[in-house]
Amino acid sequence: MAGAKHPREEVTLILIKPDGVKRGLIGEIIKRIEQRGLKVIAIAMEKASREKIDNHYPKTKDWITRLGHKTLQTYKDYGINAKKELATDDPYKIGLKVREWLLNFMTSEPIVKAAIKGVHAIDMVRKISGATLPYKAELGSIRGDFSVDSPAAANRDKRAIHNLVHASETAEEAAHELSYWFKKEELQDYKRVDED
Ligand code: GDP
Ligand code: MG
Repeated sequence: MAGAKHPREEVTLILIKPDGVKRGLIGEIIKRIEQRGLKVIAIAMEKASREKIDNHYPKTKDWITRLGHKTLQTYKDYGINAKKELATDDPYKIGLKVREWLLNFMTSEPIVKAAIKGVHAIDMVRKISGATLPYKAELGSIRGDFSVDSPAAANRDKRAIHNLVHASETAEEAAHELSYWFKKEELQDYKRVDED
């Protein structure tokens, strides 16, 4: 594609969630990203405010309803009565609840934010992170190797799934999240030795 950026110029955002920080997994998580050949171009710890996290996760009806549908599917898979447990079976209302749990979790303790650059950085970091649900995440991924949580357990406790990391899912999400968490001048530019 003429004019398109070289694939190695792609940048994505990762957040190490409070469970990753509290378990002392910051180094392990960053190590896995670096050893794959991706480059850390900014990194910092932050105790995020509720407003900060609220504007980080999408607020669109689509996104919230999708979150609700995922929860309803889990309840169906495990034969749990959604209406009995959450007082509603409306996907949007359930999505709002899960989003609220997520805000509580992400503001409970500090998080680490990092900008990651490299070939197909967005997809690569998602792959290194593993599937959203830890009990389904592949071995060898961060979530697959270090977390045991499930939505059935998390929903029962009325909290977000503890899955160690957040990583941008799409180019649009990455663009929004990078400019949201970092100033442009905070993103560093350097060459790794393996780029020479
Ligand atoms: P991600 O991009 O892999 O982090 O997943 P999503 O964007 O779909 O969801 C955002 C976050 O919400 C996840 O990382 C989980 O922490 C939490 N979450 C997602 N689905 C559920 C669910 O069904 N139940 C609960 N309790 N939390 C969920
Ligand atoms: Mg997501």
